[in-house]
Amino acid sequence: MNATSNATSVSEEDRTALTDTVTRFARTEIAPHVDAWDAAGEFPRSLYRRAADLGVLGLGYPEQYGGTPASYQLRLPLWRALSRHGASGGVLASLLSHNIGLPPVLAHGSDAVRAEVIPPVLAGEQIAALAITEPDGGSDVAQLRTTARREGDDYIVNGEKAFITSGMRADWITVAVRTGDAGRDYEPPRSPASHGSLPPEGALAALGRPGGGKGSAGISMLLIPGHSAGLSRSKLDKMGWLCSDTAHLRFDNVRVPARYLLGDEGAGFRIIMSNFNSERFGLAASALGFAEACYDEALAWARQRKTFGAALVEHQVIRHKLVDMQMRIQSTAAWCESVAAQADAGRAGNAAAPGRPQPQQPPWGAATHAQQGSVGADSAWVAQVCLLKNHATQTMQFCADQAVQILGGMGFMRGTVSERIYREVKVMMIGGGAEEIMKDLAAKQLGI
Ligand SMILES: Cc1cc2nc3c(=O)[nH]c(=O)nc-3n(C[C@H](O)[C@H](O)[C@H](O)COP(=O)(O)OP(=O)(O)OC[C@H]3O[C@@H](n4cnc5c(N)ncnc54)[C@H](O)[C@@H]3O)c2cc1C
Repeated sequence: MNATSNATSVSEEDRTALTDTVTRFARTEIAPHVDAWDAAGEFPRSLYRRAADLGVLGLGYPEQYGGTPASYQLRLPLWRALSRHGASGGVLASLLSHNIGLPPVLAHGSDAVRAEVIPPVLAGEQIAALAITEPDGGSDVAQLRTTARREGDDYIVNGEKAFITSGMRADWITVAVRTGDAGRDYEPPRSPASHGSLPPEGALAALGRPGGGKGSAGISMLLIPGHSAGLSRSKLDKMGWLCSDTAHLRFDNVRVPARYLLGDEGAGFRIIMSNFNSERFGLAASALGFAEACYDEALAWARQRKTFGAALVEHQVIRHKLVDMQMRIQSTAAWCESVAAQADAGRAGNAAAPGRPQPQQPPWGAATHAQQGSVGADSAWVAQVCLLKNHATQTMQFCADQAVQILGGMGFMRGTVSERIYREVKVMMIGGGAEEIMKDLAAKQLGI
């Protein structure tokens, strides 16, 4: 796989080569095994190594850590093809959980921490996860309760995290903790500031104070080693994503070296919000691929299944279902490409944490996960990411529903792609910022 020479121009050759590689990998090494992995509740750890060997895990990361820098336009076909041909949200969520766990490390970790953590994850030897959501709530991030108290050269962490992808196996967990006070740092607006909106600038004045300030200004990001004493994990049973290891985490006086603090104390909320943009774009691209997987299965079935003496596809009603799927797929694909191109043109912002110098332009030229979707993103672009996530997941929902209908009774049977994806729709509409929260954030960004 060739590194792209700059972030704004992506060669069609690179995209085709990437799509072909990922398609082959997904068809041969994921799709045939998903039912067995879902039944077992996990996929083999060796899949991480295999994905790393192909460059799948390292796409979008600097070469010095074993990655291949890549723009949004190059990462889009990765998510899309992996979803379309692997057809498993469970595999995708856990195999790529480093894409939500590592960017804060890359953007805000010290050189030593980056060098310790990133290479083994990109090599598929270790697993990274992100833990923000708590049992008391995920949308209202500013109110999270897990605490980290400074004691000498360590932080002492206490609290719980809920629904954490790769939570059972992660070797590194990027955890949102409260170092400052609870409560609100500002009066909530008419619709609450939540999973995706920044507090007003005044509230950010608290950054740089020990622990940060109140509410959102009192949140920090701490990287916690998975083997830490006092960390316990329990596996959660789910509607879908059955082979993904989703966990409840408990921290009982977990001692974490202070060198694992990412960014300044109190800068956590901004780091979290920055991270969400690229996560949401990835979810949209995946939803597109899953919608296509449903379409592919429904079309193949409609061509070979006969009713009333004709193939299903000969019936106009069935053809209309298929073109209705295409209409949504094509609009989602076009919007994904447009949002990716805008991000690569600079609208996704830069990686500087508040109060810290801007990061230098990397010598390799192409953007990485740390530069993209981060602080300073254009608000109209952020609004588009939110709306795109909603549109893409609605496309996936529509296509899963239509495909199951076209498959008839077979669509209700375990073993079909559409049945699995039908069960995986809801998490796409909730995780990474629920639909209602996406609308709220988009409205705010658009000044509505
Ligand atoms: C399988 C799975 C994997 C996940 N993986 C991770 C992970 O790796 N890391 C992580 O940190 N989290 C993870 N999550 C958590 C996910 O991000 C949260 O579930 C999500 O953000 C919603 O939070 P919540 O479940 O607490 O819902 P709540 O915040 O309690 O909200 C419940 C419902 O109310 C709606 N709502 C809330 N506030 C408002 C409002 N003001 N106006 C209108 N509607 C509102 C929400 O949109 C939602 O529909 C995962 C979740 C699932 C299911």
